[in-house]
Amino acid sequence: MNYKFNNKTVVITGASRGIGKDIAIHFANLNANIVLISRNIADLKNLESQLKSKSNKIKSLQLDVSSLDDFMKATKSIEKKFGSIDVLINNAGITKDNLILRLKESDWDSVINVNLKGCFNGIKAVSKYMLKQKTGKIINISSIIGLSGNIGQANYAASKAGIIGLTKSAAKELGSRNIQVNAIAPGYIETEMTDQLKAETKTNFINKIPLNKFGKVSDVSNLVLFLASNNSNYITGQTITIDGGLTI
Ligand code: NDP
Repeated sequence: MNYKFNNKTVVITGASRGIGKDIAIHFANLNANIVLISRNIADLKNLESQLKSKSNKIKSLQLDVSSLDDFMKATKSIEKKFGSIDVLINNAGITKDNLILRLKESDWDSVINVNLKGCFNGIKAVSKYMLKQKTGKIINISSIIGLSGNIGQANYAASKAGIIGLTKSAAKELGSRNIQVNAIAPGYIETEMTDQLKAETKTNFINKIPLNKFGKVSDVSNLVLFLASNNSNYITGQTITIDGGLTI
C-alpha cells in the first residue's frame, strides 16, 4: 500500500521497546515527524539516535501517560515544534497480574491509570489540536484479553475492555470533525511482555492459535500504518483483532 506520512506528526506512547518501538521504526521509514514517549528518557534517546538516519524530525519526551497535566504540557510542546499533531498511538501499557483475591489495590489502580486513563489523557490532550485541524487519527492498543477476560488479569482485562468503550465514545464525539478513532486488539505478540511467559504456557497458547505461532511486532505495526493512513478514512470506532485466529 502506498502510505504518505511526509510532514505528518505521529505521537507514539510506550515507544521505547516492543510494539511501540517497532511502530516508531515503521513511521521513521516513511519520513514522518515522530514523537517518542515513555518514562525512561535514556531508552528513547537510544532509539532516537538509531532513527536519525531515516527521519530527521524526532522528539523524545519523558512522560508518564497517567498524568493528564504532563500529557497536556507535552502536546503543547509538540504542536509548537511541529505545527500539527496528526496521529496519536496510545500504546503504553503495563501488567500487574494476580488473582482477584490476591490483587493489591495499588496494582489495580496502577494498571487502570496507565492503560485506560493514559489513553483518555492522550485523547483529551491531542483532540484539542485535531479538532482545530479538522483531521486526525487516534489508535488505541487494547488486547484480546479485553474481549475475553483472563484468569489473573482482572485489572488488565478491565483496562483493555475500557479502551474499547472509550474508543467508541471518542469516535462518536470526534467523527464530525473528520477524526477517526480505532482500537487494535492484539493476541500474543513476541515482545518482552510475552517473554515473561513460561515455555510450557507459551506452547499451550501456540497449540490453540490457528496460525500456530505468536505474532510479530511488525504484524501490529502494519495494521497501525493502515489505520493511520488515508486508506482507512471511513473506518472509525472499531476494534480490530490481530491474533492469528485465537479468538475465532
Ligand atoms: P512492553 O512492556 O514491551 O513496552 C511497554 C512500553 O510502554 C514501554 O515503552 C514502556 O516504557 C512504556 N510505558 C509503560 N508504562 C508507561 C507509562 N506510565 N507512561 C509512559 N510509557 C509507559 O509492552 P509491549 O510492546 O508488549 O505492549 C505494548 C502494548 O500492546 C501494551 O499496551 C500492551 O498491553 C499491548 N498488548 C501487547 C501484547 C503482547 O503480546 N505483547 C498483546 C496485546 C496487547 P517505560 O517503562 O520506559 O515507561
